[in-house]
Amino acid sequence: MTSQVMPTYARMPVTFERGEGVWLWSTEGKRYLDAISGIAVCNLGHAHPAVAKAIGDQASKLVHTSNLYGIGLQEQLAAELCSLSGLDNAFFCNSGAEANEAALKLARKYGHGKGIGNPMVIVMENSFHGRTLFTLSATGNAKVQDGFEPLVDSFIRVPYADAGAVAAIHDTRVCAILVEPIQGEGGVRVPPEDYLAALRTLCDQRGWLLMLDEVQCGMARTGALFGFQHTGILPDVMTLAKALGNGVPIGACLAHGVAAEVLSAGKHGSTFGGNPLACRAALTVIQTIRQENLSTRARELGTRLLDGFRAAFAGNPHVLEVRGQGLMIGIELDATCTELTSRALAEGLLINVTADRTIRLLPPLILSDDEAQHLLDGVVRLVNDFTAH
Ligand SMILES: *Cc1c(COP(=O)(O)O)cnc(C)c1O
Repeated sequence: MTSQVMPTYARMPVTFERGEGVWLWSTEGKRYLDAISGIAVCNLGHAHPAVAKAIGDQASKLVHTSNLYGIGLQEQLAAELCSLSGLDNAFFCNSGAEANEAALKLARKYGHGKGIGNPMVIVMENSFHGRTLFTLSATGNAKVQDGFEPLVDSFIRVPYADAGAVAAIHDTRVCAILVEPIQGEGGVRVPPEDYLAALRTLCDQRGWLLMLDEVQCGMARTGALFGFQHTGILPDVMTLAKALGNGVPIGACLAHGVAAEVLSAGKHGSTFGGNPLACRAALTVIQTIRQENLSTRARELGTRLLDGFRAAFAGNPHVLEVRGQGLMIGIELDATCTELTSRALAEGLLINVTADRTIRLLPPLILSDDEAQHLLDGVVRLVNDFTAH
């Protein structure tokens, strides 16, 4: 079948037409357990009644006006996100790349304010920050950058999870660090517990902004509403997107202290950003996460699944590591395993493989105990069959 959609994705041979909770139904009527949530987007599962009702209600009231005017729901959402994170203000956009674009523009302007003509941002190997030119330049993946040179020359790259490598950078042009609290696309990499605190100290000593990309790990995914809340620190900038609207496109760039005063009228903008529909969806997502205690649930289920996988694979030498936090789980094998996604699909299970050999699981946080067991059993069987050859 020919397609007139630009072929920017190598798609799996399945099309879904309906979802409910953790389940999706294909156009063929087959049911799938969704353990990827649209890549960490549908954290409340599909067709969540509260979100569906809020979107429908808002759609019949007011979808869009413009940032030329006041937007009550945007004010409410900013206040809610700030009160829950401890940060001071928020800029709204429509995606993770745009949220990081805002953070990177903010960092540059902050640098210029300090008299730095070519402000540099420290970024990490194997990071992922988006597909716009500025954010793909920040991304630590040659495949994402290939063919789009010249890249934006604003970045100094160091190994992830190594605060010493950051401390060793003595370049007076540096004005910020951009880092994922847990790397997602890079293979579900969990840094040492004191990593963010060490980066915080360096930023304080050197006048750099600590900017956290929580686009994937934010919104209760890791067992805390925001990934940095597992540590005692506060970032200067935090970006959110993916699960913020449970599928309704919305991104946010939050800032604190001096960083909250960098972008003034006319310095950044977005036509759609923070419109009433998207903000109503995001407010409902936050309310649901809190009412249903989904951070706690993600933490408990995450521990159960991680323990379960570790026990099941203890005797399998081809499984190098089971790692993760909350319901952000990676299972690293000793060889490329991308074909596992098709094998899983055939068995009615949606999983993902990232960084070639790490199985990534990002199930909806509303997973029941039985569904979690179903996922555990399914993945264990798939991996053991695959590694037995
Ligand atoms: C997905 C992702 C992005 C990009 O988000 P888009 O909405 O696809 O632009 C940025 N950072 C991280 C950590 C991500 O996982």
